[in-house]
Amino acid sequence: MIPYGKQNITEEDIKVVTEVLKSDYLTQGPNIQQFETAFAEYVGAKYAVAVANGTAALHLCTLALGVSPGDKVITTPITFAASANCIRYCGGEVVFADIDPSSYLIDIDAVRNLLESAPKGTYKGIIPVDFAGAAVNLEDFKNLADEYGLWIIEDACHAPGGFFTDSAGNKQLCGNSNFADLAIFSFHPVKHIACGEGGMITTNDLELYQKLLALRTHGIVKSNDLYVNSIELAGGSEQYPGWYMEMQTLGYNYRLTDFQAALGVSQLKRADAGLEKRRAIAATYQAGFSDKAFVYGQSGVVEGHAYHLYIIEVEDRLGLYNHLRGKEIFAQIHYIPCHLMPYYQSLGWKTGDMPKAEAYYRGCISLPMYPTLTEEEQSFVIDAVNDYYHHG
Ligand SMILES: *Cc1c(COP(=O)(O)O)cnc(C)c1O
Repeated sequence: MIPYGKQNITEEDIKVVTEVLKSDYLTQGPNIQQFETAFAEYVGAKYAVAVANGTAALHLCTLALGVSPGDKVITTPITFAASANCIRYCGGEVVFADIDPSSYLIDIDAVRNLLESAPKGTYKGIIPVDFAGAAVNLEDFKNLADEYGLWIIEDACHAPGGFFTDSAGNKQLCGNSNFADLAIFSFHPVKHIACGEGGMITTNDLELYQKLLALRTHGIVKSNDLYVNSIELAGGSEQYPGWYMEMQTLGYNYRLTDFQAALGVSQLKRADAGLEKRRAIAATYQAGFSDKAFVYGQSGVVEGHAYHLYIIEVEDRLGLYNHLRGKEIFAQIHYIPCHLMPYYQSLGWKTGDMPKAEAYYRGCISLPMYPTLTEEEQSFVIDAVNDYYHHG
């Protein structure tokens, strides 16, 4: 059986998790800070906040940025639903902007059209997604966002280690937050780094960082982080006793456990090797399909691509999907356009609203892509695709 994605757990991973299970900390302990520090360094950001999963990360971001009922926020229809749902969690209104059919990423011109055709102040933010692992050019988005006073949350779940090259020729890593207010990652087993469940927010903004820390734990701030004691009851000389804390805002319990963080630290050590392997697999697919008429689009070899997914666009996609299943190759479709989900249709979105995303959806299929995919397995997949179209 060959799935489209797969985690890789080593003996070393198991050892570090077992050690934490024998220690004093199960929920937030020393491994959380270690994971946060190592991850912030990996993506080149100042601060990182580990959370329960990528969806919780998105929710904390919309909370920290103050999304309120009625606020309009722009995102792409070709993403996992959580990228849009986090706007709804805060009562905001999701506005989809169509994709660029060559990169599959949110089209900056579609975003610009939205912004230009509404009074300034209509939109509050943009959530671009580094879909499949291809890095969005956030420098361009930041220039546009600044013009209209918008914030940016980069959904980088597919792209740890990915980068784009800015106008000065510098590599800008996904999640470094040089051009975004906040960036988020997921450590679901199918993503690059597996914690079981897990997520991370990265930022360079100290104020947002402090808000996120509190929101992760019920909005509670402990005595040593307090500058003002706002509850009179404490009183006297014991103004900041060790037990003192305040619930200052309405937060959640979105903590990651210490053993998940230990697994994250261990997995992160292999992230670069995994990325190299993903890029090699992509190059092999690209070469394997470049002269095939039935493949009319593919992820291809793109500088800085992190290849969470390798996508080809084909004729008769359903036939190919079933043919591959017959050979125990479990390809997947990423994604059914988010605006066509019954929930978003119930909010007024309909077929025809995002023609490029819908056209993309008709042909897309994600082929197996994970670091432990062997050369033999990949050849088997490429042959199976060719075979279906009586080719090669
Ligand atoms: C996986 C994913 C999420 C959500 O992450 P979870 O950890 O599963 O909650 C959000 N956005 C994108 C693009 C994802 O792929």
